Amino acid sequence: MEKIEMTTPLVEMDGDEMTRVLWKDIKDLLIHPFVELKTEYYDLGLPHRDETNDQVTIDSANATKKYGVAVKCATITPNAQRMTEYNLHEMWKSPNGTIRAMLDGTVFRAPILVSGVKPTVRTWQAPITIARHAYGDVYRNVEIDVPGTGKAELVFTGEDGQEIRQTIFNFKGPGILQGVHNLDASISSFAHACFQYALSVKQDLWFSTKDTISKTYDHTFKDIFQEIYDSTYKAQFETAGIEYFYTLIDDAVARVVRSKGGFIWACKNYDGDVMSDMIATAFGSLAMMTSVLVSPDGKFEYEAAHGTVTRHYYRYLKGEETSTNPVATIFAWSGALRKRGEMDNLPDLMAFADKLEKATIDTIEAGVMTKDLAIMWEGSECTAVNSRAFLEAIATRLA
Ligand code: NAP
Ligand code: MG
Repeated sequence: MEKIEMTTPLVEMDGDEMTRVLWKDIKDLLIHPFVELKTEYYDLGLPHRDETNDQVTIDSANATKKYGVAVKCATITPNAQRMTEYNLHEMWKSPNGTIRAMLDGTVFRAPILVSGVKPTVRTWQAPITIARHAYGDVYRNVEIDVPGTGKAELVFTGEDGQEIRQTIFNFKGPGILQGVHNLDASISSFAHACFQYALSVKQDLWFSTKDTISKTYDHTFKDIFQEIYDSTYKAQFETAGIEYFYTLIDDAVARVVRSKGGFIWACKNYDGDVMSDMIATAFGSLAMMTSVLVSPDGKFEYEAAHGTVTRHYYRYLKGEETSTNPVATIFAWSGALRKRGEMDNLPDLMAFADKLEKATIDTIEAGVMTKDLAIMWEGSECTAVNSRAFLEAIATRLA
C-alpha cells in the first residue's frame, strides 16, 4: 500500500507519563503504516523541559507560529511533589499556559460521541463545544482581606495624570475585596478566534455574559463581540448559514440543557472553566474530550483535554496492565492531520483523518473499548481491553 505524502511538517509536542506511552503506540500502529509522517519534533516531557530550562516549550510555540499546525501530548505541570520526583531545577510553568500566551489563543473543547454512551442530558444529540476566554478576570485578580472599618475605592491613574475614582464600599467591619481586569485587545482576539472557529466548523456561535448586572465590564465583552461580528463576520456567517447569538449566562445555561447540541458556546474565563467540566461530564467522560487552541491569526494546536493519567502510569511502571483511553489523543492527531491537509490542499490526508476517526468510533460501537467506557456502556455486549489491544483493533479496522 502506498503511504500518504505530506508537504509541510506538523509540529509534534511529546509529553509525559501514560499519554507519552500512548503517543508512541498511536504513531506506530495508526499513523506510520498509512502516512509518510513529516513532523518537527519537540520533546516537552518534563525531564527535557528541565534540561532546556523550558526553552523547548518556547521553541515549540514558535514553530507552531511558523508552520500553523501542532499536535500536543499531555504534559505534567510541576508542583512541589514533582520537584522531588523529577529532581527539577525550577517549578516550570504550565506548558499549556506558555503556549496559549504565546499564540494569544482561545481553547475550544468538544466531546466525542459514541452510540453506547448516552449523554446525561437526554436531548443532546450533537457535541457542544466550549470556547473559553483564556485571559484575565478572576484568574488575574488582586485581593484584600479587609481588616475592619474603612473605605474601599477603585482608582485608575492614567499615564497623563488623569484620575478616575469610585467608592466601592464603606466597610463598618471586616470583609473582603477583589480587583479584576481585562483588555480590549484580549477580548477582541477571543472574539475573532470564536467567529473564525465557528466558520471553520460551520456551527452557530453562542456567547453569554452577565451584562445586565455588570454594565461596564461584561457589557464591554458583549459590545466588542457585536462590533466585530457586524464589521467582519456577518456576511460570512450568512453565507455559511450559521448564526451568532448573544444571551445572558443564566438564560444560556437553561437553553443549553434544552438544546439538541451542535453549537459553540463562548464563555468568559471563569464560566468556561466551570461549564467545560459540566459539559464533559454530562457527555460521558473526560477521556473523550478533545481540545484545540486557535490563535486569532489562524494557528491551531490540537490535544486531548485530559492530563497525563498519572495513576495509570504508576501501575504501568509496576508492570501492571493498563486500560487507558487513547481516543482523545487519537483525535488530536486526526484533527491536526486534517487541518494540515486543509492548509496544504491534500485531500488524501484529510480523508485519512476522517477514516482514522471513523475506525476509532466503529471499533467502540462494535463493542471493543477501554475500561472507562465499558463501565458506562449501555449498548449491546462489550469487551474491555487494554490500551494496546484497543489500538490494534482500530489499526485492523483502518487497514
Ligand atoms: P488526568 O491525567 O486527566 O487524570 C485524572 C483521572 O481521570 C485519571 O486518574 C483517570 O481516572 C481519569 N482519566 C483521565 N484521562 C483518562 C484516559 N485517557 N483514560 C482513562 N481514564 C482517564 O488528571 P490528573 O491526574 O489530575 O493530572 C495528571 C497530570 O496531568 C498532572 O501532572 C497535571 O499537571 C497534568 N495535566 C496536564 C494537562 C495537559 O497537558 N493538557 C491537563 C490536565 C492535567 P481513574 O484513575 O479513576 O481511572
Ligand atoms: Mg478547571
